[in-house]
Amino acid sequence: MLTEDTQLLHLSQGHLNLLEACPRKFQHTYLEKLNSPSDPEHEEKQTLGSRFHLLMQQREMGLPIDSFLQADTQLQNWMSGFANAAPELLKPTVNQAFRESEHYRTLQIQDYLLTVVYDLLIADSQQAQILDWKTYPKPQNKRKLEQNWQTRLYLYVLAETSTYLPENISMTYWFVQSEGEPQNISFSYNTAQHQKTAKELNQLLSLLTNCLEGYQKNQPFPQVKETSRDCDFCQFAARCERTQAIQEQRFNSLPNIASIQEISL
Ligand code: SF4
Repeated sequence: MLTEDTQLLHLSQGHLNLLEACPRKFQHTYLEKLNSPSDPEHEEKQTLGSRFHLLMQQREMGLPIDSFLQADTQLQNWMSGFANAAPELLKPTVNQAFRESEHYRTLQIQDYLLTVVYDLLIADSQQAQILDWKTYPKPQNKRKLEQNWQTRLYLYVLAETSTYLPENISMTYWFVQSEGEPQNISFSYNTAQHQKTAKELNQLLSLLTNCLEGYQKNQPFPQVKETSRDCDFCQFAARCERTQAIQEQRFNSLPNIASIQEISL
């Protein structure tokens, strides 16, 4: 949720992803709260995902989880798969000075309070590792995940709010529902990436400030280009007059290049 706290707007990676994808979508979703009717299948998956996160948190806190596992075979399979694939992550080692699930951090940039919640943060005197659980299969496109604001923001905030150098921070996603057994994707970090994220973050937040100022004067947030394929799959296509039929009409009304007479220079 986009919340306001004494002039500071709270933002998470979801806000940044949406703002970067299409500012108008951000306006419809967060300022006007125009959400599409919920999809029961999607909701069910979300509930199961939340339960897995809760289970991992309870386990980390040393609370009993057997009754949860016995009541749900899906959770049981995920948990045993994860325990086989990454047993070292489930047991604290003597070197680990710090381990905390649902670890919460904030960082103020401009008039915004950026918030991250790490599913698990493990750190020692040398390095820190951010872990994130995903209850969907491992995605094919690692580059896309690297560019997702969850990866960029989570790494950035830890480097900014701790004494660890970017080079000593990493982030690993675990996909418990992958084919066969849980699989992971890891990202290392470095100073150049950190500086790049700082620049991108500041640019995006400045864009948001400009958009919000315009919105106060009844100017809507900018849309993506009319030719963008994003509109074809967007729930706001009709509201934005970007339905496929309208798009086609627009393209068809363009003059046929072959019929345009060449003008001699
Ligand atoms: S239809 Fe296109 S312009 Fe409108 S919110 Fe969706 S992506 Fe943005």
